[in-house]
Amino acid sequence: MKVKPSKSRSLVIKNGKVKEVRFKIEGEAIPIVSEKPVNLGKFFNDTLTDRQNVKETCRQLDEWMKTVDKSGLPGKYKALIYQHGILPRLLWSLLVYEVPMSTVEGMETTASRYLRRWLGVPRSFSSIGLYSSGTKLQLPLKSITEEFKVTKVRQHLMLQNSKDEKVRTAKVDIRTGRKWSEKETIQEAESRLRHSDIVGRLAIGKQGLDVTPTARWGTASVEERRSLVQREVCAMEEDSRMVKAVGMKKQGSWVNWENARQVKLGWNNIWKMEPFRLQFKLKSVYDVLPSPTNLVTWGMTDDPKCVLCGKPANLEHILSACSEALKDGRYTWRHDRVLASIADTLEKGIKKPKKKAESLRFVNFVKEGEKGHKVRVEGSGLLGTATDWQMRTDNYYGINSAMHAWEDRMEDAYERKNLKYQDLLKDCQQNGWKVWFYAVEVGCRGFVGQSMWRALRAIGITGAERRRLIGSLCREAESASMWLWRRRADKWKDNKH
Ligand SMILES: [Zn+2]
Repeated sequence: MKVKPSKSRSLVIKNGKVKEVRFKIEGEAIPIVSEKPVNLGKFFNDTLTDRQNVKETCRQLDEWMKTVDKSGLPGKYKALIYQHGILPRLLWSLLVYEVPMSTVEGMETTASRYLRRWLGVPRSFSSIGLYSSGTKLQLPLKSITEEFKVTKVRQHLMLQNSKDEKVRTAKVDIRTGRKWSEKETIQEAESRLRHSDIVGRLAIGKQGLDVTPTARWGTASVEERRSLVQREVCAMEEDSRMVKAVGMKKQGSWVNWENARQVKLGWNNIWKMEPFRLQFKLKSVYDVLPSPTNLVTWGMTDDPKCVLCGKPANLEHILSACSEALKDGRYTWRHDRVLASIADTLEKGIKKPKKKAESLRFVNFVKEGEKGHKVRVEGSGLLGTATDWQMRTDNYYGINSAMHAWEDRMEDAYERKNLKYQDLLKDCQQNGWKVWFYAVEVGCRGFVGQSMWRALRAIGITGAERRRLIGSLCREAESASMWLWRRRADKWKDNKH
């Protein structure tokens, strides 16, 4: 083996201080680290700290975001480049260097600023809306601080559980500044996991059961524990975001959308959305559209009045509560568009040839911990029980907001409808008919109520067909609302199309 002096580096430390001493091999000098830093996946220089490298990482992030920003690509492509190009690279630097938490938070602020611009939402749009996994509208973006925490936790666990005894006992110190420590986070995550072994996992909201992880801390292997802890760290982050959201009166109001199902926007969905639609969706969910009351709050006008009826107009008023808008028929127009989608699918379901009239079987609820008896759900729902169904869509019943609940009030709308149709139900039963009654809600902002999912299943519209229908209901409601929003100050009759 031959020594190559130019590829080597020298570093001399005397009394704890770096000294410039030059070594030579056969007359050829070995470069000192201060002249040529070493790149071993991370840069080492003569300061023996990462301060310079951390600075460089910040500068690089800034530069990357700026370059993408100037690229002239549509905003959603820019957001994709952040998620799949910039973030993974940044995480490598955050893994190998000692970066204090406060610096990482600064990086996230920078990234969020660009992301908001690229998604076309105002600066006041909260970072919860960008990164949360628990909101009603979930974006495929990850927060730098959360990824940083998970990275550092993983690093700690890898060293702690290393197969190599020397690594295990080396007591490597992972420094992350004074604001956050991965050791404490791991302790907290582990104690949460132990706790959930005892009390069982809490299902969150009305979803849950099927999405909660099954591995238990007590019986998990080392690898399983490692991934459990990492997942728990993400859950802890989400928890703290939720606490923040509850405290935000306006942008956090979705916390109360008990009955609306969560919408997960993947890149696939985002590609298909026109830019304005994505913006409308984000802004309407977090109530940051320039409605008259918002404009007053932002100090841009001093008149919060609705052009149509003169009452103070927030987004809810414009999209679902204005008495003039109800009178001139624009809510009805939206209602009918959504209803037409449902009617269309039901019509197809009725016409579908049936093998034979089947009876319905229902699955009983199984308590957590008990084993369910596997009853196969046979038949094709209500539609499968007869061959002579006829459809009547009643456009005159329940027009006002019945189909278009404001998402905060879906539960009320459901109750109201239940009451409203009791008489009709009784009449039908007295005529000797068998009656099933399903009240369903589609929210103004394109969020479909749980009730709709349940009703479709019972009727016998399931699987891909159900997903397709829900998707189109969502789109219809949303695009109709978008139209209503654009025409909020116009006379409706003139714009009929
Ligand atoms: Zn009004």
